[in-house]
Amino acid sequence: MSLDVAVEKVMKQYGNFSALMPTSVEIRNGEFFTILGPSGSGKTTLLKLISGFETPTNGSVYIGSEDVTNAPPHKRNIGMVFQNYALFPHMTVRENIAFPLRMRKVPKAAMKKKVDEALELVQLKAYENRYPAQLSGGQRQRVALARAVVFDPPVLLLDEPLGALDKQLRLQMQMEIKKLQEKLKITTISVTHDQEEALTMSDRICIINEGKVEQIGTPRQIYEHPDNQFVAEFIGETNLIHGQVVGWDHGIAAIKTMTGEIFHAVSADKDLTKVTFAIRPETISIVSPQHAIDTRWRGKVHEIVYIGESCRCKLITEKGGELKIKLSHKEIPFVSEGQELVVGWEVNEGILLNK
Ligand code: ATP
Repeated sequence: MSLDVAVEKVMKQYGNFSALMPTSVEIRNGEFFTILGPSGSGKTTLLKLISGFETPTNGSVYIGSEDVTNAPPHKRNIGMVFQNYALFPHMTVRENIAFPLRMRKVPKAAMKKKVDEALELVQLKAYENRYPAQLSGGQRQRVALARAVVFDPPVLLLDEPLGALDKQLRLQMQMEIKKLQEKLKITTISVTHDQEEALTMSDRICIINEGKVEQIGTPRQIYEHPDNQFVAEFIGETNLIHGQVVGWDHGIAAIKTMTGEIFHAVSADKDLTKVTFAIRPETISIVSPQHAIDTRWRGKVHEIVYIGESCRCKLITEKGGELKIKLSHKEIPFVSEGQELVVGWEVNEGILLNK
């Protein structure tokens, strides 16, 4: 049975240093929840408070309805997978997976059945008698996963589980873990600094910075509607343009910036004067002179970088500002260094950020 997890006003202080500011988060039953943030932001601290490897300076941790704030890790009955696998080197694959069941004194026949199921789940039946040293990185991580779920824990914690794997294998394992998680419907909390991994695997992402939660949302909410500048810049690439609202007509604000004028639809009747506008490079289109588009800027192409499926480049605008744009594969042959381009976007593209 899977359970939800809640941290309530949890904080962690090391001496005078606040590794985690008072934080309240609810992780729903059965969801894949990722804690994402830069190095030193407090991700691992939050995970350790949930697992019981650290106790909070203040606040409470709940698994289901049970307050586990002061319970040691082994009393929380949580499955865990670490970056370095933490497998027992002197035990075979089967013995490693059986270990949590042995600790729980599960009878022999039931243990064999559960281990067989877990081996099947991670497709390692043929490797059951090997030792960890005789496995590849991906296989070791699958053993670690099987060991973490074999005792049907209500919650699974993943601490940078794919950090030690190369890119190709990481992508493959992302899909495998996601499928396994969906099959078991187990509440999963994962820590990573890899934004692509977070976007691919998660139902919801919690962005954390300097011990503070910046935003919690679905991958689309986080990517398309970042709450603030930190989130907008941390996830994907973005152009941040500071400006001032100088006019207003039928819900369209005219924003004056150092690099040109922007027209943007604003639904709420906010008191906007100084604003920060964010627009992703892939949202900006190359437009022809006769194309009617709300915001259009002219500039010269600079620093073209070919990245396979697309090209990144900068546009130095007439007024001397810089705009990051992305050229699709079809556009690449028609654009060269130093060329003049007109680019633009519609009033409903890009967003105004809160702070
Ligand atoms: P990374 O991605 O590099 O692992 P993180 O986001 O997981 O980083 P944490 O390990 O949670 O970061 O650490 C958050 C902050 O708390 C860091 O500045 C770290 O130096 C500090 N910190 C962590 N553990 C301790 C400790 N035992 N004593 C003192 N400071 C600590």
